[in-house]
Amino acid sequence: MIKEKGILFVLSGPSGVGKGTVRKALFEHDTNLKYSISMTTRNRREGEQDGVDYFFRTHDEFREMIDHNRLLEYAEYVGNYYGTPRQYVEEMIEAGHDVFLEIEVQGAMQVKKNFPQGVFVFLIPPSLEELKNRIQDRGTESEDLIASRLQEARNEIEMMEAYDYVVVNDSVENAVKKVQAIVQGEHCKKERV
Ligand code: 5GP
Repeated sequence: MIKEKGILFVLSGPSGVGKGTVRKALFEHDTNLKYSISMTTRNRREGEQDGVDYFFRTHDEFREMIDHNRLLEYAEYVGNYYGTPRQYVEEMIEAGHDVFLEIEVQGAMQVKKNFPQGVFVFLIPPSLEELKNRIQDRGTESEDLIASRLQEARNEIEMMEAYDYVVVNDSVENAVKKVQAIVQGEHCKKERV
């Protein structure tokens, strides 16, 4: 049998919906999955580590990655840049690993254009009220930033149509099970086997 290439999974959803939590739980169960660490110009939150949560970079360093075409996609989100380093993703997929990107909608749409064989999953909160509570409980953002992130969330939810799958994050356990089912299902698609 020819060695299978990995699949690129793109997970989006409004800030605070729990993408990170779902993704981390998913990675505890699946050793073939690789997480693509993004690059960002935003400030590090307490507890975050460079090279683990993000590659924290200056605007100039980020610009250089764009200029050398080293990002698979990038977007500006609430005043900062976020992007996916291209090389890691391409190498892992080629080596047969599934790769997960956890990115916002504008970036996901760029990936869809450049990498249409990717699988696009949108995580939604049970309600916008619930989302607001989650962002507030996280306690890392000011009132202004919470308002910007909620506005962004409304805009993002309108883009849900462009995704292949929608998963409601009512509980982490349920959401993880659904994403695992999507991963398995995608591997069974006849055009992939
Ligand atoms: P946060 O500041 O909360 O860590 O992330 C803000 C938003 O940027 C989230 O929706 C997150 O998924 C998204 N994001 C993180 N990394 C990337 C990336 O590499 N590219 C894009 N387009 N969005 C990203």
